[in-house]
Amino acid sequence: MNSKSRVIVITGANKGLGFELAKRLLKNSSKSIIVMTSRNETLGKEAHAKLAEQFPASRESLHYHVLDVTKRETYGPFLDWIKEKFGKIDVLVNNAAICGVNELSPDYKVPHSDALKIIGTNFISTKEFTEYVLPSLASDGKIINISSTYGFDDKPIKALYKRFADPNFQSKEFEEIYNAYFETAKKQNFEEAGVPTSAYKISKALLSGWTYRLKDSLTGEQQAFSVCPGWCKTDMGSQNATLEAEEGTITTEYLINQPYKANKETNGKFFKDCKELEAF
Ligand code: NDP
Repeated sequence: MNSKSRVIVITGANKGLGFELAKRLLKNSSKSIIVMTSRNETLGKEAHAKLAEQFPASRESLHYHVLDVTKRETYGPFLDWIKEKFGKIDVLVNNAAICGVNELSPDYKVPHSDALKIIGTNFISTKEFTEYVLPSLASDGKIINISSTYGFDDKPIKALYKRFADPNFQSKEFEEIYNAYFETAKKQNFEEAGVPTSAYKISKALLSGWTYRLKDSLTGEQQAFSVCPGWCKTDMGSQNATLEAEEGTITTEYLINQPYKANKETNGKFFKDCKELEAF
């Protein structure tokens, strides 16, 4: 490994946008080490083999390791392997996520068990995994959280972003917000509680809010960003989406490549189409 190579870890890289991001980086970023991860080892290895075949020159730079962000027991073996092989992580792209079945249906109301799973994966576990690897993030490393503007214009979601931006916001409030939402999902009284019927919307707002707050605990030239990829043709986005999956990786690549000086003022912010959104 060239000592100047950046180590870029992508969660949920066996398909969809995670896979497309690995492909884009292999195409455009010859100096980087790309680490694809997935919760299903067989699917992950197949995806890795596919890209290795497509990019034969990537033999030294394309790697795979199993990682389920909801299974804490997979964190240790993953990080030990990273430390032994590369010593550090330069960029962590938290791409892995789930959404509700029939999420786009107008009658959708997330069942309690799904709310636990969706917020559990997209926010609670993603945060837990990130905090676990943070001590191994390079001093100029980046955390890029793949979020969404789905529900961005909904009143309760707008109110949440306002709350995250408040300088008096306390980190314990993240837990209060999702616990209150779990109670609402249990009672199914979304309207009365004034919250969306989609746990996915809440999970992504929490993720972007936490990313914004995360900048305060980063050191040196470390940075964190949220990205909305746009509505993309993947298993999650469906084939009705307006963008090809590969287009959904452009902003993430843009942020990976931005130098620290250019990004200093935008640390913690939310990006779409390579531009900062007015979220905070
Ligand atoms: P896909 O459903 O196609 O892929 C999601 C990936 O996440 C899969 O590899 C899946 O693995 C993985 N994953 C799910 N749970 C876990 C877990 N516990 N541990 C590790 N990996 C897991 O979705 P997309 O590619 O469309 O989505 C990628 C990201 O982009 C997500 O964060 C999504 O919320 C976001 N996004 C997508 C949009 C779109 O239009 N597609 C729009 C806005 C945001 P497995 O194959 O095993 O299920």
